[in-house]
Amino acid sequence: PKRDYYNINDLVSETVDFMKNEATLHNVDVALSFEVKKANVHVDKSQIKQVLINLMKNAIEAAGAEGGKVKVTVNVQNQQEVFIEIVDNGPGIPVSIIGRIGEPFFSTKDEGTGLGLSISQRIIQEHNGAIQFENLVAGTKVLVILPLVEEEE
Ligand code: ADP
Ligand code: MG
Repeated sequence: PKRDYYNINDLVSETVDFMKNEATLHNVDVALSFEVKKANVHVDKSQIKQVLINLMKNAIEAAGAEGGKVKVTVNVQNQQEVFIEIVDNGPGIPVSIIGRIGEPFFSTKDEGTGLGLSISQRIIQEHNGAIQFENLVAGTKVLVILPLVEEEE
């Protein structure tokens, strides 16, 4: 896989643009917030965009059931990690299936492939990052963590 240096804000904003139609189809309002101007990552761009698409699609599908909202936020922690947070106000991840999150082909959807999260977790692991899931009072928060890097190393 070919990696290069990118401002993560650019990849996130390209992905949100790409998902605009999907959001409109589901009647979901997408809000985007960048907490820093620049946060460099060293990644395979198409793989990271694939992860963001998978996670946004899940968030839109979850929020869409109740005409909802998705909020995407990018920030930097401790000057060493990039946090990409995707929050939806859907029904949350059922407690009974939490242990199966990321299992290939596991889906609760009629036409789900159940591959989005397993592929996403593999890609993020290969980038020395992590994905975390959190059930909120109303909805789900998915956090993608990637190492922050200097522009040229
Ligand atoms: P698929 O979307 O094809 O079902 P995924 O791997 O993307 O497969 O997701 C697996 C399962 O995780 C989904 O079927 C759903 O039950 C649950 N899930 C993922 N994201 C969310 C979310 N944002 N809110 C609620 N449940 C979710
Ligand atoms: Mg999915």
